[in-house]
Amino acid sequence: MGRSAYGRRATCEASLSIDVREWHRLGLLRHAGLVFTWSWTRAGEPLGSVDVRTAADAVILTSEGSTERRSIEQRVPVTWTRCHLGGVRPWFRCTASVDGRPCGRRVAKLYLRDAPVFACRHCCGLAYASQQEVPRHRAISRAQKLKMQLGGGPSLLDPFPGKPPRMHWRTFYRLFNKAAEAQEHCLALELGYLRRLSRAK
Ligand SMILES: [Zn+2]
Repeated sequence: MGRSAYGRRATCEASLSIDVREWHRLGLLRHAGLVFTWSWTRAGEPLGSVDVRTAADAVILTSEGSTERRSIEQRVPVTWTRCHLGGVRPWFRCTASVDGRPCGRRVAKLYLRDAPVFACRHCCGLAYASQQEVPRHRAISRAQKLKMQLGGGPSLLDPFPGKPPRMHWRTFYRLFNKAAEAQEHCLALELGYLRRLSRAK
């Protein structure tokens, strides 16, 4: 979960989200029984929407299931805390289940992952773009570059290409060894990263 096809960890910034502070600012949480639709667009294109109904201590989110036609309801508790300078601020409580128990984290934002369920960024395995681990990505692009020098495509999942017709065998072996080494290094970093990720949950 939370990873794109390119092995990059998906980011908060690139995910569809709902922000309880924004809803509060817009007066959408004033009282129970309010109904509104929250929709997302990117570059003018609609990306989807969720219907929201407010309850006394929660919001009820209704969205279309990705495979089934019927819509699915998710009840997300909303709690309020006092601010230092007066006033109150709302929080969502993440209802995603972790090892059979609700996560329960108090968060400002929930992300739409594995539609139609909203969950906090921890449960979605999302990173902030600024947190992306640079060494891993450097290793990936180095391995990709070497593979492409051998005439292959950028995907590290594809098998290595054979020797290009005009290349000397010596050059080929040298590049091949470098590319294989880079790929191994890159996979080791990915593996370590995945282990850390699964421990963090
Ligand atoms: Zn969570």
